[in-house]
Amino acid sequence: MIRQEILKNLKRVVIKIGSSVISNKNKGRSSLECGLSKDWVRHYARKIKVIQDNGYDVVLVSSGAIMAGRERLGLNRADLSIPEKQACAAIGQSFLMHTYEKAFEKKDIKVAQILLSHDDLGNRRRYLNAKHTIEALLERNVIPIINENDSVTVEEIKIGDNDTLSATVACLVDAQLLIILSEVEGLYNRDPSSKIKGEKAELVSHVGRVNEEIERTAGKSNNRLTVGGMYTKVLAAKKTMSFGIPTLVVNGLDEKILENVFSGKDVGTLFWSGKGKIRDRKHWIAHTLKPAGVLIVDEGARKALVEMGKSLLPAGLKKIQGEFEFGKAVKILDEECKEIGRGLVNYNSRDLQQIKGMKTSAIKKSIGDSFYEEVIHRDDLVIF
Ligand code: GLU
Repeated sequence: MIRQEILKNLKRVVIKIGSSVISNKNKGRSSLECGLSKDWVRHYARKIKVIQDNGYDVVLVSSGAIMAGRERLGLNRADLSIPEKQACAAIGQSFLMHTYEKAFEKKDIKVAQILLSHDDLGNRRRYLNAKHTIEALLERNVIPIINENDSVTVEEIKIGDNDTLSATVACLVDAQLLIILSEVEGLYNRDPSSKIKGEKAELVSHVGRVNEEIERTAGKSNNRLTVGGMYTKVLAAKKTMSFGIPTLVVNGLDEKILENVFSGKDVGTLFWSGKGKIRDRKHWIAHTLKPAGVLIVDEGARKALVEMGKSLLPAGLKKIQGEFEFGKAVKILDEECKEIGRGLVNYNSRDLQQIKGMKTSAIKKSIGDSFYEEVIHRDDLVIF
């Protein structure tokens, strides 16, 4: 029922293809030896052609660059250095795109490559630029194929995994559904590889809210081919859900999976609350920007923020962690260190150390007229 409802409203879908879904792993290779499978890429080109012919806009987020480059360079060690990984990404990305291009060409579909980094998404102007480019491509029935710009980004400024990237892209392009194709069936209620007797893992068909227990159940990945495991998928779903977009995690190694999804069958795990929309800019503040610091607020400020929808004032600040500049995103924690929201600060961390706990009149004396009444204005504030 819910799935039919989602399909009824569907116009634009983001499909994330994980490395293991388009790898030639099944041919007796270990996960570090395998490369790109042209057969699987062709398979997905055929399936996506059908989806496009049925009138949907499709945006792809595809992993596989590092895997393809690794195979081409014969670098099948587990301990690649960062430049080695980046070299793999550079060689693999062009091979990946070439393979997609050839597969889609057979179906008369043009594709376009977009490589994004956190710097692109964290800068509002570049974020909107990327959005406009994708719109222009979709208007012309071109399929954008997006990946992280791995060959130039280093660990600290990386988006890090394509589950997160696909969630950000789904919000960026205002999709009505994100489908994550991975090598697992979906979220299980316990570890499916667990050998404990009487503990049979069951697939969860629907998650209405991603809470700490769900995050714990998802655990971390132990697959060397992919960056994320179920954990990053669950976090990705949390991101899209708060934007009002459902996420479906399904097994991409099942050849019929997209037909099953588009006919509303109960496959994989659907993450969908049916509500919850923080729109555009606020979502970007909460889910795209990386927090540069932490503000711990007192109980009075917590109430003002959470219950009364007010701005954050210096008087309610207890502690500042991290060093950051004016305009950066920060996390806001209550006295128990529970995150209650995020926002953009009107002060740098040095000034905040100086004015924390002060009343407005005292601040004026302390730092002169160039002061802001609010540490974070409520227009720049997202409460969870
Ligand atoms: N961007 C990486 C690649 O193309 C994959 C990241 C991931 O698996 O999440 O190889």
